[in-house]
Amino acid sequence: MEKSNIKRKIAILGSTGSIGTQALEVVRQHPDKFEVSVLTAYSNSSLLKQQAIEFKPNTVVIVEDKTYEALSAELWELGIKTYTGESALCDAVQIEEIDIVLTALVGFAGLKPTIAAIEAKKPIALANKETLVVAGQLITHLATENSVPILPVDSEHSAIFQCLIGEFHNPIEKIYLTASGGPFRGWSEDELKTVSPSAALKHPNWEMGAKITIDSATLMNKGLEVIEAKWLFNLNEDQIDVIVHPESILHSIVQFKDGSMKAQMGLPDMKLPIQYALAYPDRIDSSFPRFDFLQYPKLHFEKADGETFMNLNLAYEALSMKGTAACALNAANEVTNQAFRDHQISFLDIAKINQTVLHESTSCMSPSLEDYLEADQEARSLAKTQIR
Ligand code: NDP
Ligand code: MG
Repeated sequence: MEKSNIKRKIAILGSTGSIGTQALEVVRQHPDKFEVSVLTAYSNSSLLKQQAIEFKPNTVVIVEDKTYEALSAELWELGIKTYTGESALCDAVQIEEIDIVLTALVGFAGLKPTIAAIEAKKPIALANKETLVVAGQLITHLATENSVPILPVDSEHSAIFQCLIGEFHNPIEKIYLTASGGPFRGWSEDELKTVSPSAALKHPNWEMGAKITIDSATLMNKGLEVIEAKWLFNLNEDQIDVIVHPESILHSIVQFKDGSMKAQMGLPDMKLPIQYALAYPDRIDSSFPRFDFLQYPKLHFEKADGETFMNLNLAYEALSMKGTAACALNAANEVTNQAFRDHQISFLDIAKINQTVLHESTSCMSPSLEDYLEADQEARSLAKTQIR
């Protein structure tokens, strides 16, 4: 993407969520740099309406149709077009005026709209990691074919990307993704048996949507990030290491073949990687609090426990299985994550069921979009059977 003095027009998929609302805060801070073109939500039409009134997008999508008519009538008065249904997301990202699409919706639902945006040659600011986990091979292929940049928003991947600026021709020896370890860092399997959803929903360093907060507690989030990193930076699984760093100050590290390591640091605040992706290649002002070394005289690092928090190891296993394996693991995890939040299964069941589904799923080696959709459906129904 080139530098420009014209306002960048953004489509935000999932504008009512944690990433979406923080992206709008960034836009609010920089009215001279950004404009909102599209806003979307699943069902939260009251917040979506409020956002539309403030940011005056061209188009709004509410996926669930319950409140569509009322919302559409109110926004019509303001000259804003409103649509409903899943397919409206794919149409909305293709609007000509859009300069960049921020995928801040959660889960597998991000896949089709991301493909539609790439096909319309829109640069992607990617928060929705599940899209790359599910179909990394297809997405990276399409992005290359359409010369579309995928700019990471996930803090670890933004860190790696920032470390690689000026180094794209230099081979990476390995990367270290940092992990906070979540609320249960250091806990034994026995201690984890009775963990409640409300305890798992309390993350020590980040305030995020419910799904990713549970994924952080089970280390599935780090597993998904390992797979995301493989596709974003074209790495083999043995080049990706995870290191627990409870303070979340080093956001991730690249090690080059001369042994030199570069890290990107800062206080944990998602607005920074969001803003970086939206303004890339520029760095623009921010009033975020600055890091003070003397407040952190010690930073800590420990080994990640992928045996107790088995989801992390399952992600590496899925990567080595290739094909649709990661898609199946992601689908199982979306079902088990929700079932745990709904008190249907225990904390430890999440990874156990994910493992069973990963091992029982049919695998397809050179998947098309159809194959990914089928693998997703099969894994969801296998997971539901396990829950019953
Ligand atoms: P939230 O749950 O807070 O927000 C999700 C957003 O997506 C909401 O706007 C929601 O609408 C919408 N949405 C939910 N389901 C669907 C669906 N089926 N179809 C269309 N839209 C849907 O999630 P987060 O903001 O926490 O996370 C978003 C993505 O970013 C995830 O992939 C996550 O892994 C990733 N991410 C998040 C981080 C964070 O700090 N939160 C950090 C790094 C990555 P509604 O409000 O109406 O339900
Ligand atoms: Mg992350």
